[in-house]
Amino acid sequence: MNEEMLKGKTAVVTGAAKGIGKAIALAFAEEGCNIVLNYHSSVSEETIAEIEGKGVKCLPVQGNVSDFAFAAEFMKQIKKEFGTIDILVNNAGITRDMLVMRMTEEQFDSVIDTNLKGTFNMIRHASSIMLKQRSGTIINMASVVGVMGNAGQANYAASKAGVIGLTKSVAKELAQRGITCNAIAPGFVETDMTAVLSDEQKEQMMSVIPLKRYGKTEDIASAAVFLAKNTYITGQVLNVDGGMVM
Ligand code: NAP
Repeated sequence: MNEEMLKGKTAVVTGAAKGIGKAIALAFAEEGCNIVLNYHSSVSEETIAEIEGKGVKCLPVQGNVSDFAFAAEFMKQIKKEFGTIDILVNNAGITRDMLVMRMTEEQFDSVIDTNLKGTFNMIRHASSIMLKQRSGTIINMASVVGVMGNAGQANYAASKAGVIGLTKSVAKELAQRGITCNAIAPGFVETDMTAVLSDEQKEQMMSVIPLKRYGKTEDIASAAVFLAKNTYITGQVLNVDGGMVM
């Protein structure tokens, strides 16, 4: 594989102000990609400086991925500023955990809107640009929970299972123009999203991780870079989970 193959490419990462998204933005910057960093509530000056410190451009854009009109404007803006959209990482995601019998309509809808519709919105508007370019790669953040299910996460599991179905369908639609679309299914990664879990829940998770450690954000970021570099993998779900799902 050509070590410099991502240099000068445009990588768009949603929900990239912290956690896995930030690690992915940094990893693509390390490869020489210019970064479009979508954030929701805020992003620190330090994060932008850290990315720019790798000698690439970083364009921070605030917006809600579940907003169809924002996604359209966002892609137009990127095309105008950078000319191409080479890599799209749909990372933005939320949890609103609750047992299904007590789950509110808002808890269900908000998770589907962000995780599944947000991913659709971005693909919907980036794909026409990628199709014209006849190149591009899309990486969607799924979860092992989308494959296995998880008590207390019916909304989240449904959204991530939806992301997997979306990934495979998009892969089939765009393959003839050389565009790949894959999903990453992380297991338990140490971020703000998992910091809210109780010690008991964390121990329960550890008991089903054969590699006996929680994932780091860098473990997911390196998988994203791998998928972006490989032009012959499409429609796949790459589990990065310490062996939770085999
Ligand atoms: P995180 O630390 O909570 O970060 C999530 C990011 O998404 C935040 O920056 C958040 O911004 C942003 N976001 C939320 N709603 C958004 C919206 N509507 N529009 C744009 N951005 C939005 O979570 P993480 O652990 O890094 O998770 C990243 C992805 O990996 C998610 O898709 C998650 O489901 C997936 N994942 C995580 C794990 C894990 O163990 N951590 C496991 C499997 C899959 P604000 O905070 O400003 O709202």
